[in-house]
Amino acid sequence: MDEKRCYIKTFGCQMNEQDTVRLTQLLGRDGYRPTEDPEQADVILVITCSIREKAENKVYSLLGRFQPLKRKHPGLVIGVGGCVAQQEGERLLQKAPYLDLVFGTHNVHKVPALLAEIRRHGGRLAETRFYDEIPTDGLFDADGRLKAYVTIMQGCDYRCSFCVVPFTRGPEVSRRSDDVLAEVRALAAGGTKEVTLLGQTVNSYGKKAPGELTLTRLLEAIEAVDGIERIRFTTSHPNDLTDELIGAFGRLSKLCEHLHLPVQAGSDRVLARMRRPYTREAYLDKVRRLRTRCPEIALSADLIIGFPGETDEDFGQTLDLLRQVRYDSLFAFRYSRRPNTDAAELPDQVPDELKAARHQALLDLQRGIAEERARAQLGTVQEVLVEGPSPGDALKLTGRTRTNRIVHFPGPPHLIGHLARVRITQALAHSLTGEWVPSA
Ligand code: SF4
Repeated sequence: MDEKRCYIKTFGCQMNEQDTVRLTQLLGRDGYRPTEDPEQADVILVITCSIREKAENKVYSLLGRFQPLKRKHPGLVIGVGGCVAQQEGERLLQKAPYLDLVFGTHNVHKVPALLAEIRRHGGRLAETRFYDEIPTDGLFDADGRLKAYVTIMQGCDYRCSFCVVPFTRGPEVSRRSDDVLAEVRALAAGGTKEVTLLGQTVNSYGKKAPGELTLTRLLEAIEAVDGIERIRFTTSHPNDLTDELIGAFGRLSKLCEHLHLPVQAGSDRVLARMRRPYTREAYLDKVRRLRTRCPEIALSADLIIGFPGETDEDFGQTLDLLRQVRYDSLFAFRYSRRPNTDAAELPDQVPDELKAARHQALLDLQRGIAEERARAQLGTVQEVLVEGPSPGDALKLTGRTRTNRIVHFPGPPHLIGHLARVRITQALAHSLTGEWVPSA
């Protein structure tokens, strides 16, 4: 097989990163080796994200930089995937005459065949269909990575007024559990110790597939896979956080005590305008039940500041929710209009300066909470999955606790790739320092 090279540039979320891993594997099967240098590439693929305004313009400007390479290398194929590709489809081909391929979010598995078609017969192709099930490409990533993502579902059936995902990733579709388990077993056989199950609303897994496992049952099945030591899942929707799933924390020994549970706002009025189908009290009730079941669980969330119509009182309720939940970490975003969403058309858009002031107030509050939560770890002994040398200090190792906190500690290199016990001696909001506690 001739050696060919592919350059993939990826923007956006973990789903796009996971699509990139899958593309790299699929293309590897057809003889393409990854390259970091677009000038060396036979195929350039850009995996796009449409979460920000003007994302599409950024794609055109990036593609424009690749255009001269086509003159130097006439066989070069340039393709665009991801969310902008899904939304724009053939329009991208019309707007960018040097583009050869557009593939939607459900069509990653078809890319090798589409590339082969273009290389054999020329022409320009766009494939953006949604499918009713996630295709099995029969290729499992078993390259020995310590931690791996496993996509178990895609798309979303909710209709949050600020979000483009239902348009870019289609309706919710769960992958068959036997297919997921085959991948997890292959990963374990290849040396992977931690898997993170991925989906836009991962905890609604199986809801639309009669006879399919629930997420809790799937976690139980993965718990039984030899070699896997840790399981995580993200992103969860508060509505689909069932008592069955809450009960899995603290019961399944491999399920890590961390949950990312986006709240988006702390005011019922804003939640309703966002079309988030829960109240702040319902959310807080689930948090209380989680903490009762598993007191050590770490919580993180996404939150939008300055959603259209957000008043000082609404924002005050968000701050109050933070004080009640006491998140270990928080991803707070200032609202920005996203094309093709209903919220972009809502009146009462919040001025940028006010969003900035609220953002700062929220960060100040959260920093204090995160520092207190981190200090509570001082003196405890944590299980750390050791990932490698510490980036800032080659004499130290680094890894994560089960609660997903980063820990740096001095220790022998043979710990890399293994679980180690570490006593926490210093705590900052975003990382911990500790000392290795060798097993007796
Ligand atoms: S649940 Fe998440 S992915 Fe689905 S529409 Fe809402 S924000 Fe988007």
